[in-house]
Amino acid sequence: MKNLWSDIEAASILNDDLALRVYTSRLLGKEESLVLHGGGNTSVKSTVNDIFGEKIDVLYIKGSGWDLKTIEKAGFSPQRLKECQKLAALPELSDSEMVKQLRLALLDPSAPDGSIETLVHASIPFKYVDHSHADAVVVLTNSPKGLEKLNELFPDFLILPYEMPGFDLAKQIDQAVKAGHLQGKNGIILKSHGIFTFADCAKKSYDLHIAAVTKAEEAIAKLRTAPRQTAEVKAIDHLALAKIRRQVSDLRGAAVTVNLNQSPLAVGFASRTDVASISQRGTLTPDHSIRTKRTPAVIGEDLVADLQEFKKNHEAYFKRNSSAEHTILDPAPRWAVWKNNGLLSFGVTAKEANQIADIAAHTADGIQDSEALGGWQPLDEKNLFNIEYWELEQRKLKKAGTKPMLQGQVAIVTGAAVGIGRKCADDLLSHGACVVGLDISPRVEDLNSVNSRGIVCNIGDEEQLKAAVLKTVETFGGLDIIICNAGIFTAGEYVENLGLDTWERTLKINLTANQLLLKYSIPFLKVGINSAVLFVGSRNVGAPGPGAAAYSVSKAGLTQLARVLSMELAPDGIRVNVIHPDAVFDTELWTEDKLKRSAERYGMTVEEYKKRNLLKTEIKSTDIAAVCTAMVGPLFNKTTGAQIPVDGGNDRII
Ligand SMILES: [Zn+2]
Repeated sequence: MKNLWSDIEAASILNDDLALRVYTSRLLGKEESLVLHGGGNTSVKSTVNDIFGEKIDVLYIKGSGWDLKTIEKAGFSPQRLKECQKLAALPELSDSEMVKQLRLALLDPSAPDGSIETLVHASIPFKYVDHSHADAVVVLTNSPKGLEKLNELFPDFLILPYEMPGFDLAKQIDQAVKAGHLQGKNGIILKSHGIFTFADCAKKSYDLHIAAVTKAEEAIAKLRTAPRQTAEVKAIDHLALAKIRRQVSDLRGAAVTVNLNQSPLAVGFASRTDVASISQRGTLTPDHSIRTKRTPAVIGEDLVADLQEFKKNHEAYFKRNSSAEHTILDPAPRWAVWKNNGLLSFGVTAKEANQIADIAAHTADGIQDSEALGGWQPLDEKNLFNIEYWELEQRKLKKAGTKPMLQGQVAIVTGAAVGIGRKCADDLLSHGACVVGLDISPRVEDLNSVNSRGIVCNIGDEEQLKAAVLKTVETFGGLDIIICNAGIFTAGEYVENLGLDTWERTLKINLTANQLLLKYSIPFLKVGINSAVLFVGSRNVGAPGPGAAAYSVSKAGLTQLARVLSMELAPDGIRVNVIHPDAVFDTELWTEDKLKRSAERYGMTVEEYKKRNLLKTEIKSTDIAAVCTAMVGPLFNKTTGAQIPVDGGNDRII
């Protein structure tokens, strides 16, 4: 492992304890095989003057909710060191009480809670303490050959048996320090958990950490009997993927999105003949079990039966290990081995799914490494249960807040580069959905984020439409919502002079493209979650005018398509509705000039023209987007086949 310390970068902060702490914490955080997504913790002991001018010993410890990769000074909780040391010396203390007492020991009431390992850091009599769950270290401690070598490899480390993080671990370390067991040592290796290094200098503690992990990596390379297995990606069965997502969502009681990992290592792991055994033994380091549960599901030919099996196993595991104070968690897996296909990770947000995917990938690698060292033997079930069902985690469960309306749902919006379509995409995102925007304009790629993708797509091209639907399923695991917004407005020609090209192009984009999009989406909508389709029609359907035959006919056809679809899809619980907007002028179709000319034709000012409706109100694209979101959301769960005007009131429609 590369040592990333740079004398140049550190030169300006050598006299600032906390700045140095931030710097080397980030160096650790950069390395995924040391810490992942909030894992690991670091601290520095220093002094500050309080408001009375008295010197106080302070322990700056990584605050919970902060990630070492991006931590700042504000991410370290300033704790009164002496109070922490007194707490660690208590004969017993519940973890909930410990968290409360640590809150009271803060020098800044607005600081985050200190890491659960605060008291461990307080007990270690060195200025800088670095702690990670380094893959290489846990691979060694979780395999027979690695364990055998541990004492020989790390004579300068105190090697301790596993102890529950929190007060129990603090107690173990406090006693070891007081018994003088840390004398002459550069660090501690906690079996099945991770590694601590410490020194009075930030650089030295970091150097020791990297050197120890490098030594572990080199030992693994030397001792291993086989390389990690890799395999090539198979073609994806998109419908099976969407069905898995649906089953997992049902088990979780919430829509989930899916991260599909088909890297050669992921497929290699999923193709191992022993995967059903080695994947079921436990996690790489105990705190992963809070995010990933103790084991993944293993999905083969019969996905429904395999996920039911996971549920049954989880319930039996709970029964075996729980006592009266425990509440069972949902029985949905957080990740799965999809036999011969790769790894699947599930999250109620794309962020959660991606974080779990990182942990799953490191776990699969670690399992393969330990297998090559004589067999993967992680922490036992009871101890992992105690972490997964930790009192602090159970408390969080009871405090869980409300979730965004469309959380975990997956939507496609057509014509999403600008205008109404873009506003729809933004509005769906703000309500928690994952969104794929389609548009012929490359500007749609501005949409790319963790929760969204912009795909350049000519919806007039059947193959491109089909590919976009499949890409959506690959990216987020399924498809629940479609907003058919894209369309072209053609006018100015009476039927007598209407060119065939205008007629055919308008019908192709405004009508046929939507029929095709639905054709390829319906199999996925059928296994979606609260599936809903919304067509953006037009006031023109109910109140046409002269000179826009192609446009009016295409939108009327679209409305009829929606009515037929609402009947065809009702048995599968899929809703299909239409909105008819009118006079939305805040889009790129309308320039100031164009508006002025149109207003003049009616003998109105631009302001009057914009509000040319019964309510005398201006209709904005955000208004349309808000109605679209509402209609695909739970508010309209009992409505299908409906047509809703969003036009400020029009006497021809009424
Ligand atoms: Zn730890």
